[in-house]
Amino acid sequence: MPDLLRIFCPHAEPRVVESLRAARLYRKLFNYLWVEFLMARGSARLWGGKPYWLTIDPNNFCQLHCPFCPTGADRGVRGKAMMDMEHFKKIIDRLGPYVIHVDMMNWGESVLNKSLPEMIATAKRHGIEVRLDANFNNVPDGMIDRLIRSGLDVLSLSIDGASAETYGRYRAGGDFDRVLSNVRALVRRRRELGRSSPWIVWQFLVFRHNEHERPRAAKIARELEVDQVSFVAPSIPNEPAFLWEWMALNPEYQLYPSPAAAPGEEEALRARLSAQARKTASMEPYYARRFGPMSLLSGTYLRRLVAMAVRQGAWGWLAGRLREIGAFWRQGQAGANAVPYRVSEGGQRSICKWPWAGMAVNPNGSVSPCCSVEEERDDFGNMFKTGFASLWNGRLYRASRRHVRRFVRGRVGILPHAEHVCRRCTAIGRANFKFPNHSPYGSDPGVELAQPAATDVATGAAR
Ligand code: SF4
Repeated sequence: MPDLLRIFCPHAEPRVVESLRAARLYRKLFNYLWVEFLMARGSARLWGGKPYWLTIDPNNFCQLHCPFCPTGADRGVRGKAMMDMEHFKKIIDRLGPYVIHVDMMNWGESVLNKSLPEMIATAKRHGIEVRLDANFNNVPDGMIDRLIRSGLDVLSLSIDGASAETYGRYRAGGDFDRVLSNVRALVRRRRELGRSSPWIVWQFLVFRHNEHERPRAAKIARELEVDQVSFVAPSIPNEPAFLWEWMALNPEYQLYPSPAAAPGEEEALRARLSAQARKTASMEPYYARRFGPMSLLSGTYLRRLVAMAVRQGAWGWLAGRLREIGAFWRQGQAGANAVPYRVSEGGQRSICKWPWAGMAVNPNGSVSPCCSVEEERDDFGNMFKTGFASLWNGRLYRASRRHVRRFVRGRVGILPHAEHVCRRCTAIGRANFKFPNHSPYGSDPGVELAQPAATDVATGAAR
């Protein structure tokens, strides 16, 4: 059996197969193997195969202002929405029998949706593993008990610091003490209700300003009796001024090459102004090439840029920026590739499983090929309007599978000016889903608080 698996489904995980078989979840098992088989063949059309991994976003708003998150930075790239129970049920009724795992968040703080526990309980009735990520600042009354009773498997809490000062630097608007008090209540209620789930994870994004607090975080986590601490390398806008300011010095938490020197005054000003203008400068070349320079000069963005320039008296800087934006656009017209990326360690091209095996459904039904597509205009369609089938084997999904297949076989590179989001994706092969450590499907069950120094898990998604 392991040999057959290696031949026909080389990307399949034996642990997943064994767990599904042991739990007698045969429909999920068959779908898993079938999708893995079609993926290995590079099939553009999934004959009967359904996604076995879902991200469902109950709501895409949040009370915090994390600077690198499009929601926190208020980039306005998705309409705000809250999913209701009826629509959630439609998704699960259609896909639940095939799905193995659901992440119940993407671009917002899901606990603000009062139907969340009911959604989780519905997914659990279909034998799906459910994970929730939350900043846990504002937890509605009764939500903790309802979450515990829902059968939630994993609750990952985003706490990037071990003091109020460092925590608030990235989780802007958050209250460290209130989060810890909510975590205490969660652990206490889980014990009082006699439950062993959810498995509670303290997720700590390691930045330059908080990396020294890792031992302290592990100590607090042990005192709080959470089950696991994960120290994670965050995604940061790939630009020297940002990397210099935010990226950890410890190479284990660096996803980008380290800048050689501190940014000059102008570069630092540009980064600061761009961040305040709610659009990072590292995205400008891409916007200018794809949508033309007017996409950077219109509306709210321009008003913010000008306001910042006036406040800082930086008119020369603003004029320089406008010239630079024009240059980005001309470069794009000439086909120049100015987007730095690393394919993966050793230059090997890994497959991105998302177009075959996963799907991200936004609160308004808009479907993204994966959880990292920030802009609604890059989505593949709307599941609430057209249904699942026409999307799943539709033109855009087929194009994404073809592109990943050709990319893995070395026949095409990343195309920064492409219309299709997968074709210009710099995270291709690096953004694959990962079953939680302690879950029956996870491949790394040994990461526990018993060894605080060895708890580092590098994945890389800053929210
Ligand atoms: S190729 Fe990139 S954009 Fe497309 S599904 Fe994979 S990670 Fe997402």
